Amino acid sequence: MHELSVTQSILEIALAHAKEAGANRILKVNLVVGELSGLVGEYIRFYFDFITKGTPAEGAELTIRHVPARFRCLDCGAEYEPGGDDWTCPHCGALRPIAVGGKELLVESIEVE
Ligand SMILES: [Zn+2]
Repeated sequence: MHELSVTQSILEIALAHAKEAGANRILKVNLVVGELSGLVGEYIRFYFDFITKGTPAEGAELTIRHVPARFRCLDCGAEYEPGGDDWTCPHCGALRPIAVGGKELLVESIEVE
């Protein structure tokens, strides 16, 4: 159910931007969702369609751009994108990654009229 609260925040951001822009209707919301965010795009889409009913965002298209995970190796400092479930550092073979990318959830842009 994590996606529901996330989707509510997305809608709040989109509505605030639309209001600032003096727009009556939101046509499109472009999201960036990181691979490590734990969020499922299909759930966000489902909740979005549901909670936008009766708001200026009703019927808006939701696009989701996925950002891959990105790690930094704590041993050698190299940054790398893990290959699937293999999170070992391709440079030194250590398994001491910290995530430096892929956790994001952002409203990248919205289109209004
Ligand atoms: Zn390394």
